[in-house]
Amino acid sequence: MRLRKKPWIPQALEEYRGKELLEDGLEQYRGQWSQQVLGGRPVQLEIGCGKGQFLAAMSQLHPEIGYLGIETQRDVCYYGVKKIREGEIPNARILHADAAHLLDWFAPGEVDQIYLNFSDPWPKARHAKRRLTYRTFLAQYKEILKPGGHLRFKTDNDDLFAFSVEEFKEFGLEIVALSTDLHHTDILNEAQTEYEQKFSARGKNINFCEVAF
Ligand code: SAM
Repeated sequence: MRLRKKPWIPQALEEYRGKELLEDGLEQYRGQWSQQVLGGRPVQLEIGCGKGQFLAAMSQLHPEIGYLGIETQRDVCYYGVKKIREGEIPNARILHADAAHLLDWFAPGEVDQIYLNFSDPWPKARHAKRRLTYRTFLAQYKEILKPGGHLRFKTDNDDLFAFSVEEFKEFGLEIVALSTDLHHTDILNEAQTEYEQKFSARGKNINFCEVAF
């Protein structure tokens, strides 16, 4: 997600630090996210949550579930934490963090479900390891998901989708649902992301794959 530099954001974020925005000492919550942060609710993650539209919508639709959005770009986190504050949403937080270190912050089996929405495609072959569906990321998801937990993946990018489905198969994951045109199926799609709205408005098909670990 590209964002023009907004010099006022770091100061504005101070208001949210330690509340809707968590970024320091995330290890302290390892194994305790549900109890210490999410009021005892089961934990679901969105990795690369961008401006938090999906996270805010899902957490309002499902007050019984706790949602954690993970986002590397600190300025982008601002828009998500603002949505959580303004919506008075008690069951969502944004972690300013890089998903490459998930095992430092989550205990084995601590997470119920993972969402990857419109992940950066990293089209060059030499950058394949950075794709959030690369096998080393899948190995992390396997560790932190409860046994049989699901990953739900949406993307506009056909090449990333083809690569990811191959990675899922090679990793031995069970494919629960798959479509190259999600919006014209009866697969449940409760909330759209910003990218999803943008690309589908241009007529782009949206790819979807759900796998069980
Ligand atoms: N999910 C949003 C949507 O669909 O509108 C945003 C999509 S945007 C293309 C991808 C986002 O993932 C960016 O905001 C980027 O900073 C974030 N991201 C990429 N790699 C990440 C990582 N390793 N950990 C956390 N966030 C990451």
